[in-house]
Amino acid sequence: MDVIEVASQHRRQLIDITSFVQQAVGAGEVEEGICHVFVPHTTAAPLVSENADPAVGDDLLAALAKMVPDIRFRHAEGNSDAHLFAALIGPGLVLPVSGGELVLGRWQAVFLLELDGPRRREVWITCLRA
Ligand code: ZN
Repeated sequence: MDVIEVASQHRRQLIDITSFVQQAVGAGEVEEGICHVFVPHTTAAPLVSENADPAVGDDLLAALAKMVPDIRFRHAEGNSDAHLFAALIGPGLVLPVSGGELVLGRWQAVFLLELDGPRRREVWITCLRA
């Protein structure tokens, strides 16, 4: 397993980690298989989205801000919205590896979605042969 360390700068932020994931896949010995990307946190999540137009990420973050439910959160840490979104998005991605490389659609990139930064985060990457 490879561990990527990422430092976020804002409370909510999308960080493109595609090149780090690609590096981890390239350093492995899997020609054909899958790459599992796991975020071991409860207030951050991995996701695949577009990286061509930064406005897509801006829109996603703006939409998340509007989606915080109007309820009385009981969790005393004050970051229940971050826990909610991380739980809904999920902690892991399974991505294809072919020819020894991570394979994504033309407009796709792998992001770490920070939901309660700034913090230091880890992303765990495991490649499995098909
Ligand atoms: Zn909390």
